Amino acid sequence: MTYTFKIEHTRIPKQKPATDQLGFGKIFTDHMFILDYTEGQGWHDGRIVPYQPILLDPSAMVFHYGQTVFEGMKAYITVNGEVSLFRPERNFARLNASNARLCIPTIDEELALEALKQLVKLDRDWIPTAENTSLYIRPFIIATEPYLGVSPSKKYQFIIIMSPVGSYYAEGINPVKILVEKQYVRAVAGGTGEAKTGGNYASSLKAQEVAAKEGYAQTLWLDGRENEYVEEVGSMNIFFKINGTVVTPALNGSILPGITRDSMLQVLRKHNIPVQERRISITEIIEAHKQGTLEESFGTGTAAVISPIGQLKFEGTEYVINNGEIGEVAQLLYDTLTGIQYGKLEDVYSWTVIVK
Ligand SMILES: *Cc1c(COP(=O)(O)O)cnc(C)c1O
Repeated sequence: MTYTFKIEHTRIPKQKPATDQLGFGKIFTDHMFILDYTEGQGWHDGRIVPYQPILLDPSAMVFHYGQTVFEGMKAYITVNGEVSLFRPERNFARLNASNARLCIPTIDEELALEALKQLVKLDRDWIPTAENTSLYIRPFIIATEPYLGVSPSKKYQFIIIMSPVGSYYAEGINPVKILVEKQYVRAVAGGTGEAKTGGNYASSLKAQEVAAKEGYAQTLWLDGRENEYVEEVGSMNIFFKINGTVVTPALNGSILPGITRDSMLQVLRKHNIPVQERRISITEIIEAHKQGTLEESFGTGTAAVISPIGQLKFEGTEYVINNGEIGEVAQLLYDTLTGIQYGKLEDVYSWTVIVK
């Protein structure tokens, strides 16, 4: 099926940033995509317009009860000069899973991908080309009905904005220090932890602030019921290598099902590295450290791909992992994923979608 969207070109193209000014999520491209939803009519009026502020009624429901979902993905310029997306259909499938949890009407995933491709094509020159830079893509949906009653909104907007971003590891991959959080939780079973929705991030800020004050980069989240089982690290999924086996918490309803996580699992299995998805208690991790079998730990997500953990602090004690250096498995996974994303390695998994 082909979709046609109205395109309004910008009359004042913005200056594109120099590579050393990229950062993350501060600069936006010339255009954005908007799709409206009205109850009874469905999703309608998909259009590409110049990047601009949106006008909303102060009573728009998203401002009051947080009915909103988002996605995070990237476009890359490959070594062959092509524009590549990484498993984008998975992002729109996940967006719909988040929609279902937040009582937001589902979108046509094919339409969303087609809209994204057209937007990326139009703003192609905004994709930075320096090593390990990319175009970060942020699709999101907000409840726009002006109404203060607590109920699902009857109106929504689906919007895609894009931001050229610098290399996450401009100074090399440095393992980070992580504080295991015992007071605050990110999500609970039955809550919204597996949806990418704003409230999860708003409620995580406090623990992040405490961790930062103590000199830690992120929070390691334990489960919200027993405060014992490892869930995620910051807003990334988490992996450990214990005695040669790579383990990651099984998806349990409160963990966000990362596309990077899924990709890592596939790469590990293809390389015949033993891997397990199961419950992992913090006690087990500390025990493994004491026995010298905790060999690696790292977070995974679209923004950084891999973030090695060099140190964990739990109940006042610091546990250094792999001498604070990136481990072999983390390096292999980082090289494999980025290799495929930038077209340096053959995509044997058929993950990339080339935008033509
Ligand atoms: C987005 C996100 C992830 C990582 O998902 P990817 O698809 O790998 O980018 C992990 N945890 C949380 C809480 C997230 O929001």
